[in-house]
Amino acid sequence: MRFADIIGLEEEKNRLRSFITSDRIPHAMILHGPEGSAKLALGLAFVNYMQCLHPADGEPCGKCNACQKTFKMIHPDVHFYFPMSGGKDYTVIEYTNDWRNAVLNNPYLSIAHWQETIEKDNILLKLVEEPPANSLILLITENIQALLPTLLSRCQSVSIPTFKDEEIKRALLLQGIKDDSMIQNITKTVEGNMFEAMNMAREYVNPHSERMIHWMRLCFKKKADEIIQWCDTFASEGRDAHRQFLKYGLKYIEQVVFYKITRTETEGFSADEWKGIKGLSAQLSVEEIQLIGELFSDHMYYIERNANSKVLLTALSLNLGQILNRVKPDLLPIMS
Ligand SMILES: [Zn+2]
Repeated sequence: MRFADIIGLEEEKNRLRSFITSDRIPHAMILHGPEGSAKLALGLAFVNYMQCLHPADGEPCGKCNACQKTFKMIHPDVHFYFPMSGGKDYTVIEYTNDWRNAVLNNPYLSIAHWQETIEKDNILLKLVEEPPANSLILLITENIQALLPTLLSRCQSVSIPTFKDEEIKRALLLQGIKDDSMIQNITKTVEGNMFEAMNMAREYVNPHSERMIHWMRLCFKKKADEIIQWCDTFASEGRDAHRQFLKYGLKYIEQVVFYKITRTETEGFSADEWKGIKGLSAQLSVEEIQLIGELFSDHMYYIERNANSKVLLTALSLNLGQILNRVKPDLLPIMS
């Protein structure tokens, strides 16, 4: 993440840069702003800039040893603490990959969406009041009023405003949306929330990719009630939606086999889709991937012959779950 990857907010970016260029980095800072604002994204850009070995023009270089690590959120000197679920049986390690994937996928992530990702519950962030030497504690919050005054008084606070409509529109254009009325609609709906804007843009540009990943996760986890609810909702969208989804699924699975054999990235898939494709290709055998492809083809055949969508989707989901579960769950990042 560079400052330039975040649209607008020049004043806030310059203020953050100035802490580093004037060598006045506080021991603790709080970036606070409403849901869907750039507080986390700016926090990442700030840390990347601070760690970069050859910063230039107010940006991290993106190429040095440090940048190679900070950009992937794997720098050994940058530790992430985030809310997690699961009680004392879980440690932060179990969630680190999910956290990295969620943030790298959409750095405007809100607390609510992160909690949805890790499934409810909430263990409070452990706050460190007396930082060790040569360290910076960077807190990110949507609700600064909820923090203890004793903690606040120890932190330099930086307020991050909601994105302006013009900034949301620029971001939507960059996502490849050219339809003016769609840009207006999304901008009006999200009210400055960049996280929602990115999600809606991706859904508009490719309506099937997020649904495919979500569905595969459900099947992998074998959550019968959620699978049935998903099938119910999807079946109500009609046969054509079902057909288009499976067509996309076939294209996706073909790409998994192709990548497994050739290690080549072809055009037509987004970075998010490639993450899923590579995850599946690394963890499934060619036979298993082909089995999924055959499943999709068979179901396509039945849809064309007007079989009941809900029954078909449910059967397909259960079969897919069986194939996916031959793989050790902790070895399949896309499914965890
Ligand atoms: Zn660098």
